Amino acid sequence: MSGIVYLVGGGPGDPELITLRGVECLRQADVVIYDRLVSQALHSYAPQAEWIDVGKQPDHHPIPQHEINRLLVEKGKEGKVVVRLKGGDPFVFGRGGEEAQALLEAGIPFEVVPGVTSAIAGPAYAGIPVTQRNMACSAAFITGHRAQSGCSPTGDWQRAARGVDTLVFMMGVASLPQIVEQMRLAGRPASTPVALVERATTPLQKVVTGTLENILERAAGVCPPALIVVGDVASLHEELQWFKRDERRPLFGLRVVNTRPRVQRWSGTDEIPGPDEFTMRLYALGAQAISLPSCLITPPLDSAPLDCAIHHLSDPEGLGYNWIIFTSRNAVQFFGDRLFAQGCDARSLSSVRLAAVGPRTAAALRPYGLKADFIPSYAHGKSLAKEMTALSGRVVLVPHAEGSPPLTVPDLLSQGYQVEAVPAYRVCTEIEPPDSLTELIAGEADVVTFFSPAAVRGLTNMLAQQGCDPVRTLNSFTTACVGPTTAQAARTAGLRVDIVAAEQSVEGMCQALAQWVAEKQPALG
Ligand code: SAH
Repeated sequence: MSGIVYLVGGGPGDPELITLRGVECLRQADVVIYDRLVSQALHSYAPQAEWIDVGKQPDHHPIPQHEINRLLVEKGKEGKVVVRLKGGDPFVFGRGGEEAQALLEAGIPFEVVPGVTSAIAGPAYAGIPVTQRNMACSAAFITGHRAQSGCSPTGDWQRAARGVDTLVFMMGVASLPQIVEQMRLAGRPASTPVALVERATTPLQKVVTGTLENILERAAGVCPPALIVVGDVASLHEELQWFKRDERRPLFGLRVVNTRPRVQRWSGTDEIPGPDEFTMRLYALGAQAISLPSCLITPPLDSAPLDCAIHHLSDPEGLGYNWIIFTSRNAVQFFGDRLFAQGCDARSLSSVRLAAVGPRTAAALRPYGLKADFIPSYAHGKSLAKEMTALSGRVVLVPHAEGSPPLTVPDLLSQGYQVEAVPAYRVCTEIEPPDSLTELIAGEADVVTFFSPAAVRGLTNMLAQQGCDPVRTLNSFTTACVGPTTAQAARTAGLRVDIVAAEQSVEGMCQALAQWVAEKQPALG
């Protein structure tokens, strides 16, 4: 039985500009065949899928179109759910039409999921409406790539210049001189407003404006991908620009490496995949998130002790536990998933009380229908052990990371508790480096963030494996740690710690970054 190919528009760059239908297709995908312009954050919607990069660099086509068509047909014939993910809209200079024809010919079913095209979204993020009453009542999308146009592109450009108000050129940066020349030959005045929007809708967006007269000098530094908008509407940028650094986007343009781990929970959890919370917060604040997971959280190698503890919970003869102490969200989630996977649910915990190290760990209990009975006044294992002395019941279960029982355990033991510590998950710091490591090594980042000592270890391991000096490499960036324990681990590894968040959370990290940017404002330009 043949599969199906979805030709999906991934949107112009901002990861939130993909459609609901696009996300749904990604969640069902076995294979995702994607292009260069697709936002990296979209990968997290399909962690289960095989991702194949067929990206084309300008003037350099690593995989020719007929090969891409062949790959789509081949994967479809294997019965796979294939997502062909393209930047913007698949049918706007995306060669989606040709791919649909190849699929039709091979008898593979396909569907098209339109996307938000950069031709409209790019100008919109620069404050330029492509039509505007009394200013522009028609707009055209035009390829600036001379080889891709018909036989006489310059003739096409002149025709468009005479007949259409707003012209949006795509793939046109290298042809800007010719475009300007043809506009003038077609009779557009030298004062016609022009705007170039580079990396539109991303935190690295740059806008250059001018007129047909002076745009060539002004746009000298603009690199692809960029849009060229010619027409009166381009002048509205000054007035309507909204996507920029301001109090709502204090991190605009900052490239932040997110080393938070990838989590591979037991299959059977109904968690919906999507970008991690920190990535989405960074985008919302205007930063470019570079996802570089530096450790991997998985179920423990041996889940027998955990299963045994879970069995013990519902054993009417058993002594039972008085308390279960959760010192991390991972502990809650891996314990909770396993509980359900074993056919139990919250009722098995009816006679046990639950302690959580802090409010975020406590919040992780909610999806399992559970509530923390005790949270210490300060989110730290030491406070938990100290403040628990006042509580009744001495038999305590502590689910934890394999190989590293939390610091609370000796404290609890010394206070006379009977503690059973069971591994509920595993933190691997020896992992395959993600593609984004190359970006880091090339220096394409501003800040590297750490949320755990394991992430510090994982990233230094990865760099060493690539033959880099981890300390030299990481010290060439600003480093930010979520709290004192992580900062200590980073210093022990030889790193210079520049930022330590006052509050140990995603929000605390974002606030610390914003404060740092405010102090460094001139340096960031
Ligand atoms: N299907 C895509 C266009 C692919 S052609 C769409 O609908 O958006 C590639 C061209 O699109 C680039 O050369 C550039 O002109 C434009 N483009 C795509 N993404 C862009 C972005 N984020 N910023 C500026 N231009 C972009």
